[in-house]
Amino acid sequence: MSGSGSDWDKHGFDTRAIHAGQEPDPQTGAVVVPIYATSTYKQDGVGGLRGGYEYSRTGNPTRAALEESLASLERGAAAYTFGSGLAASDTLVRSVLRPGDHVILPIDAYGGSYRLFARVFGEWGIEVTPVPLSDLDAVRAATTERTKMIWCETPTNPLLGIADIAALSAIAREVGALLVVDNTFATPYLQQPLTLGADVVVHSMTKYLGGHSDVVGGAVVVADPTLGEKIAFNQNAIGAIIGPFDAWLVLRGIKTLGVRMDRHSDNAAAVVEFLQASPKVTRVWYPGLAEHPGHDIAARQMSQYGGMVSFQVEGGPDAARRVVDATSVFTLGESLGGVESLIEYPAAMTHASVAGSALEVPDDLIRLSVGIESAADLLTDLDRALA
Ligand SMILES: *Cc1c(COP(=O)(O)O)cnc(C)c1O
Repeated sequence: MSGSGSDWDKHGFDTRAIHAGQEPDPQTGAVVVPIYATSTYKQDGVGGLRGGYEYSRTGNPTRAALEESLASLERGAAAYTFGSGLAASDTLVRSVLRPGDHVILPIDAYGGSYRLFARVFGEWGIEVTPVPLSDLDAVRAATTERTKMIWCETPTNPLLGIADIAALSAIAREVGALLVVDNTFATPYLQQPLTLGADVVVHSMTKYLGGHSDVVGGAVVVADPTLGEKIAFNQNAIGAIIGPFDAWLVLRGIKTLGVRMDRHSDNAAAVVEFLQASPKVTRVWYPGLAEHPGHDIAARQMSQYGGMVSFQVEGGPDAARRVVDATSVFTLGESLGGVESLIEYPAAMTHASVAGSALEVPDDLIRLSVGIESAADLLTDLDRALA
């Protein structure tokens, strides 16, 4: 429920990540925002609230600090945080869409986002069309007078597809739709969609923002304060808030976001170079590669290419399953964005729910979330697993 606009907004990204929303505690001078584990607040006479706090679903100082930090990092008017990325998306959609509205979704969207639209909002009369967002003519052709939202992910999960945020924002404006960007993969350190014309950013804070695989959370960041008021109303009315301890974990993670993303990107580049040289690998998906179809756009709108890498292997699904079973530094598991490297098989794990749909992923695909361990150990581990 907090807006940016503090003096920190004039500072560099890493300074904002450490200080925005996180002034030393006025009472004690504690340099770290306390975990306000409280459901309610003493009132100084009826309605005499201290700092506007009356009940922790409505507002909590630890959550407010996180929200101010996110608004500052994304250059938004305000941010709102939730118990998961999907809870954030749910509250956003229920704030802005109505039965009969139409949504354009990336054809390679995060499986859970597709499921939310197709299986949950579908029942409430919201229609969704999956479109390859890299094809702007296809996006324009899919719009109707009922299109109220273009949902963008860039890079996408798991194929690292790139969409042109500025160009999509122009289309959204033409048709009177909101452009929402799921910025989970890039984080505001690598890409700031609101500065490129997007209306809303959503995050799974579970991933890079938290950064340590120890918390589940989500965020909505808005450019327009009036839209922010609607989200704030529904954050309280629906109640899918993040708790103070989880908010604190994300705040702690955000302080090192810049140095982590630098290292994730460097390690991913080393992994990509190794995979490209391997005879067992048939294709590498990484936006930093010059031959990647979205490379030029990625180079324009991202400062680096991040830690997510996907690749396909010789030998089909059986070979892919053997590789993900054979690593020891890379841990077999879903999720991404933590300091530790993860490996997974999307067709039967993260993307099992889109099997048989237009969003189905190749069955010889392996996805890596490249962590911040010593790069040499990551290469040795992959080398052994591929052998
Ligand atoms: C994980 C993820 C989500 C969903 O977030 P949760 O915190 O798991 O609810 C949404 N979008 C992307 C790109 C993700 O990776």
